[in-house]
Amino acid sequence: MGKALIIGAGGVAGVVIHKCCQNSTVFTEICIASRTKSKCDKFKEKLQDKTTTKITTAQVDADDVNQLISLIRREQPDIVINVALPYQDLTIMDACLATKTDYVDTANYEPKDTAKFEYKWQWAYRERFERAGITALLGCGFDPGITGVFCSYAQKHYFDEIRYIDILDCNGGDHGYPFATNFNPEINIREVSANGNYIENGKWVETKPMEIKRVYKFDQVGEKDMYLLHHEELESLALNIHGIKRIRFFMTFGQNYLTHLKCLENVGMTSIEPIIYEGREIVPLQFLKAVLPDPASLGPRTVGKTNIGCICQGIKDGKPLNYYVYNICDHQVCYKEVGSQAVSYTTGVPAMIGAMMVMTGKWKKPGVYNVEEFDPDPFMDALNQWGLPWKEDFHPTLVD
Ligand code: NDP
Repeated sequence: MGKALIIGAGGVAGVVIHKCCQNSTVFTEICIASRTKSKCDKFKEKLQDKTTTKITTAQVDADDVNQLISLIRREQPDIVINVALPYQDLTIMDACLATKTDYVDTANYEPKDTAKFEYKWQWAYRERFERAGITALLGCGFDPGITGVFCSYAQKHYFDEIRYIDILDCNGGDHGYPFATNFNPEINIREVSANGNYIENGKWVETKPMEIKRVYKFDQVGEKDMYLLHHEELESLALNIHGIKRIRFFMTFGQNYLTHLKCLENVGMTSIEPIIYEGREIVPLQFLKAVLPDPASLGPRTVGKTNIGCICQGIKDGKPLNYYVYNICDHQVCYKEVGSQAVSYTTGVPAMIGAMMVMTGKWKKPGVYNVEEFDPDPFMDALNQWGLPWKEDFHPTLVD
């Protein structure tokens, strides 16, 4: 069918690449381009004899729009799958506009110097994408991504009105290190050390980091502590799910992770303010990333399961209804299939599916969209087919 340009060659990219190669009838060709070309070449070497997808590789600095434009003009992809870092979202969207190429990503833009992510920068591209006749699909990982599809599926099939949504992200995996992050450490630590917040009656309510804690018993994982965080899909779901009164996001953390994080914060290692070290400017958090384990290396060591899903509470035919839809993913099963742990897997699979939805025309519409703005049904079918089957529970335990 067509060609995808995959930008980035980290943990999530590895899964996208494997999944595109499994799905050769849609992805007849892929080009893997990243800052470090040798990482792209490694994927090519590993996969080229096992797939009919034609694989090429390239070097690109995705902070540089002109380099991106030349790469896209040379490679002529049908779609760009951005699995580099959130800092590159806007340059890649600019290059897609200049070359009239469709775009998918998994995380919303965040400026390097302020640890604040929101959709306003990318939503500002709406009219330009409409005029260019191309589609941008934003936030198509698990959360954001599948969580939005789960909510729109609930709205389409089960509810007249959804009033409350709780998104629960549980990682019951153990990698055996005292401290490591499951995806890019810089992005992960910026996210979890920020103030929490949620939306109630149309307004953001801010909390201190990790101020709100709940304990929840997750199917196939067991009881875990979870904490309320700010998360990007809250912003789009509050607009796109009609009648919503409150939406919150919780993520599980073990006490050990939190103690390490607190200590790193207390000594200043999580700061994004540059400091001078031996005459040279360094950013403490970037230095910390350099000494922490590479998330892409956690695959062989991580055991246990993730359980991520959405609890919706609302009304159907005048009666109250509760509905929980979630996916359980086993770290070791993912590793055996694609050589990555479940956090990369649960992000990379939906990114491939999102690109497939756009390429096959099912989700093709000029403009800039979040996943919940499209028909969830073909995406939900594809989740079952491509490795992330989901379960439903009509009598879930609720979060107070
Ligand atoms: P990694 O750090 O493992 O990989 C990032 C890749 O991007 C690396 O290969 C890196 O290159 C490359 N890169 C960084 N800067 C540039 C640049 N300027 N030009 C070209 N390439 C660049 O990150 P992950 O794979 O863990 O995460 C990828 C994305 O997925 C992130 O945006 C993250 O926020 C998102 N994510 C989304 C989730 C969701 O559920 N929605 C969950 C988890 C992650 P190099 O190898 O040279 O460093």
